[in-house]
Amino acid sequence: KVSNTKQCNNTDQDKEYVGFAMLPNQVHRKTVKKGFTFTLMVAGESGLGKSTLINSLFLTDLYKERKVPNAEERINKTVDIVKHTVSIEEKGIKLRLTIIDTPGFGDAVNNTESWKPLEDYIDQQFEQYFRDESGLNRRNIQDNRVHCCLYFISPFGHGLRPLDVECMKALHEKVNIVPILAKADSLTAAEMRRKKMKIREEIKQFGINIYQFPEYDSDEEADFKRQDQILKDSIPFAVIGSNIQVESKGRRVRGRIYPWGMVEVENPVHSDFLLLRNMLVRTHMQDLKDVTRESHYENYRANCIQNMTRMVVLERKRREIYRFQQYPQVKKQTVVKNTIVKTTIVKNTLTFHKESVQRRLLCLESVQ
Ligand code: GDP
Repeated sequence: KVSNTKQCNNTDQDKEYVGFAMLPNQVHRKTVKKGFTFTLMVAGESGLGKSTLINSLFLTDLYKERKVPNAEERINKTVDIVKHTVSIEEKGIKLRLTIIDTPGFGDAVNNTESWKPLEDYIDQQFEQYFRDESGLNRRNIQDNRVHCCLYFISPFGHGLRPLDVECMKALHEKVNIVPILAKADSLTAAEMRRKKMKIREEIKQFGINIYQFPEYDSDEEADFKRQDQILKDSIPFAVIGSNIQVESKGRRVRGRIYPWGMVEVENPVHSDFLLLRNMLVRTHMQDLKDVTRESHYENYRANCIQNMTRMVVLERKRREIYRFQQYPQVKKQTVVKNTIVKTTIVKNTLTFHKESVQRRLLCLESVQ
């Protein structure tokens, strides 16, 4: 009897059930099959631990063949753009991760405009995407747009340096900037708090638009809101990186050993490494991609279309001037013809008005 009642209930429910609740499953299956892509740029002075942090973040060794230039080579060094791509798979989900490294940034004696290659690279990727999107075959477009830029700030200075300000200002309209306070193990807890506050103030003071975490809805869970607040308060993320594993309390962990003790990369008391990794990979990767598409790329696209329209108008004007210079009589004829047409229109309008006034007067007379 019980099983019969259950069956009845199920069929009743099925009748009311259209099936669109399964839509997320369809999207999920399709995206999993296609795989995910993400492009991350790292910028900041050499030696701040960029390569080490990337290896620690994605548990890879991306920089095996790297050759660090000596001081002489760095005097006139220009900024290179080096692209590393790795495919990572976790529980059947594939991620094609591209890291854009910028060796040489801030290395030369004169660093004026050393952010230009970074800016150009970001623009080139937008341009390529714009071309592909406007082309005939739009099926397999590769998205190489830069979704996020981790900007490394030195822990040894007093806040931002002029180069940091200029670089971030040059890039902030084109890419999501996430500021990083490098080598956090070199700061005491109080120093770190002060430095973070100073950097946040300077970011505001210089009008730098860093990546803004999306606002949560009022019905979001309390735990989510708490996490979101922690993220916002942690900017710039103070991180520690390491390429080696060390023994700590019987576990093998990524860390750094000093004569006086040890720091663990993934220990939340020691650094914001976990917060950063969770934000980048677990919670905000899709939002970073959405902001790139909806805001940064859209701005680039709108500018492109505006410039193209302006160029078409200029070209048309240029051709008219050329035609006038070549055949002045053509222009004269057109001018004369246009004047005749305009005069006729005015004449006709006046006649029409005159007739309608006369008609109204007649009407009034007949009424009286
Ligand atoms: P990059 O030039 O910015 O890519 O810097 P590297 O990753 O090559 O690191 C430069 C040096 O800093 C290396 O000797 C690293 O071992 C060291 N290093 C990297 N991360 C940290 C860190 O979090 N703390 C400290 N104290 N040293 C670090």
